[in-house]
Amino acid sequence: MATTIDITPQTATLSNEEILRYSRHLIMPEVGMEGQLKLKAARVLCIGTGGLGSPLTMYLTAAGVGTLGIVDFDVVDYTNLQRQIIHSTADVGRKKLDSAADKLKAINPFVNIKKFETRLSSENALELFKDFDIIADGTDNFPTRYLTNDACVLSGKPLVYGSIFRFEGQASIFALPEGPCYRCLYPEPPPPGLVPSCAEGGVIGVLPGLVGVIQATETIKLILGKGDPLIGRLLLVDAMAMKFRELKLRKNPECPVCGKNPTITKLIDYEEFCGIRGEEQAVETSTADIQVEELKRRLDKGDDIFVLDVREPHEYQICNINGYLIPLGDLPKRVNELDSSREIVAHCRSGVRSAKAVDFLRQAGFKKVHNLAGGILAWADRVNPKMPKY
Ligand SMILES: [Zn+2]
Repeated sequence: MATTIDITPQTATLSNEEILRYSRHLIMPEVGMEGQLKLKAARVLCIGTGGLGSPLTMYLTAAGVGTLGIVDFDVVDYTNLQRQIIHSTADVGRKKLDSAADKLKAINPFVNIKKFETRLSSENALELFKDFDIIADGTDNFPTRYLTNDACVLSGKPLVYGSIFRFEGQASIFALPEGPCYRCLYPEPPPPGLVPSCAEGGVIGVLPGLVGVIQATETIKLILGKGDPLIGRLLLVDAMAMKFRELKLRKNPECPVCGKNPTITKLIDYEEFCGIRGEEQAVETSTADIQVEELKRRLDKGDDIFVLDVREPHEYQICNINGYLIPLGDLPKRVNELDSSREIVAHCRSGVRSAKAVDFLRQAGFKKVHNLAGGILAWADRVNPKMPKY
């Protein structure tokens, strides 16, 4: 099949060190010097350095893709490590972008890594995509999926798509003129809440490895202009049955973005379009302190709240509200004892140390964490007057 991406190899040649590094590519006729120079000239943008983005960026880097853009705004947390293999335990709390760039540089210092610390949005997508040949979506959420799809169609760039859930994955190439786009398949997103995310439904850790490697393979084939790309084909991976199937996809002439009479001619508000307005707002409200009366009411109601006491053990012996004790100074090395998916209320004596604990946990990627305003002193004053104050 003829290539649809025209990567023009640079006039620059490979250094002797690079020739040695890529020798297993160079001795194959399907790659050879011409192909390796195409890889070096290629510019690929990966959205996200998470589960899919880890193998995707690592293999593209190892293969010698010359310019690799990575987009991320998140920090590494403990729940990422089960599948996001580009990040290590020591990276918890670091920016994913920095953690990923360090690993990629270590794999292949000849690759030009471009870091974009931002959330991909309607405002920046076209500008970001401008300097790249291929866009690979490693984020796997609906707003980004529709946004990257529409931005790829509008800017004429191929989208290497991957998606994962529990034991099932999908991969395809969208938005090339001769093939369908994601909206040809799904013009509208499912109603919010109908399809659970990996954070809600879980995902087996190796699955993003499988699917991310398929995305990397398709990206490399597009660059080389070799083989039979996943254009017009949706690959379905069932890891439990270990079965790979494929669906033929056709370009939809009525497609709202790539059809004959498109109704989408510029980027829209994708958070709203996908009905998930809440995420950022939820983070904002959770930054607020929680009052002792509110905590008491919610604990009595049986809400799933994890009370974290960051005082010292001897203070705990004086008085406590049955919190889980991790002294503030021990928190960095014991943070793995905490579950970032649960709502956490941190407290100390008066609220100062626990505010630091909350800041630290946020840096470490915890999103649902509150500070108990006034600490256990306020609890003694306003909830349980029998409790000793010290
Ligand atoms: Zn379409």
